Amino acid sequence: MLTVNAYASPSATEPLALTTIERRDVGPHDVLIEIKFAGICHSDIHTVRGDWGPQTYPLVPGHEIAGIVTEIGSAVTKHTVGDRVGVGCMVNSCGECVNCQAGEEQYCLAGNTGTYGAVDRDGTITQGGYSTHVVVAEDFVVTIPEGIELDVAAPLLCAGITTYSPLNHWGAGPGKKVAIVGLGGLGHMAVKIAHAMGADVTVLSQSLKKQEDGLRLGADHYYATSDENTFTELAGTFDLIINTVSAAIDISAYLQLLSLDGALVNVGAPAEPLPVNVFSLIMGRRSFAGSAIGGIRETQEMLNFCAEHGLGAEIEVIPAAKINDAYERILASDVRYRFVIDTATLN
Ligand SMILES: [Zn+2]
Ligand SMILES: [Zn+2]
Repeated sequence: MLTVNAYASPSATEPLALTTIERRDVGPHDVLIEIKFAGICHSDIHTVRGDWGPQTYPLVPGHEIAGIVTEIGSAVTKHTVGDRVGVGCMVNSCGECVNCQAGEEQYCLAGNTGTYGAVDRDGTITQGGYSTHVVVAEDFVVTIPEGIELDVAAPLLCAGITTYSPLNHWGAGPGKKVAIVGLGGLGHMAVKIAHAMGADVTVLSQSLKKQEDGLRLGADHYYATSDENTFTELAGTFDLIINTVSAAIDISAYLQLLSLDGALVNVGAPAEPLPVNVFSLIMGRRSFAGSAIGGIRETQEMLNFCAEHGLGAEIEVIPAAKINDAYERILASDVRYRFVIDTATLN
């Protein structure tokens, strides 16, 4: 066992604090990663506060991990000491079900093993990336190509793949009109990636406050959804809408913005069920869909794509001591667009 420093949530109601945790010994198929940067995802906050169900504490969140391999197991073939690597939202899956076999481990029929707060296959509770080191099975470790700095790469492991995967699956590209709902951590990556794919990109945001930013990040158009005219003007326009907002929105109104055969894909998940007017699906053969992160192969493809196009997240790097402040600022939408913890400050 390796004892390492980490920032953990002691309970659902207390602030996170510096502590130590145990990492397992490096097994034959494991790599030991010295974490350099860990992104803060909105879901970290929901999870540690118990919003999505009870947790085992202390809990170390963090599933946007970028670092360097410092040790490898005897049977490891994919990575070597010194490699720049990343770990995203999952660290294991059954490997045998039809979805795992298809390289869609995130949809493992036995349930993928989350990077933190999940029961690992050895029965222990996984602990995430707000830490100096992590031991992960090599199959769930991806390579961060030269050309992306580790700090701006970290958020790609959740925010990047969560938006890349539906854009890729639903064929965003030249000649396609794509709308991104919400310009936050996920939304800003969706804009960058959709633009790099060659799509005509529109941001649909509550107000025009971030318009200048949106256009700078690669959007071609920017509309305020608080303006009723937006919904009449854009009716029947988009081939694909990616909804990154976790709050409840009027899905039926957004469905009306889709062209024939268009799809509205939710990557944000409100806690409550959403009502949908089925006529808005029928009249236009439209789809309302969801998408969760991406498989390991696709995550590597996304990182390669981002390196090729010079894409990284827009970040604010913070020391670990600022994690609790960062949580409050995320809840107040006061970040452009992702906090990244410099894990050297955990030492
Ligand atoms: Zn996340
Ligand atoms: Zn499986």
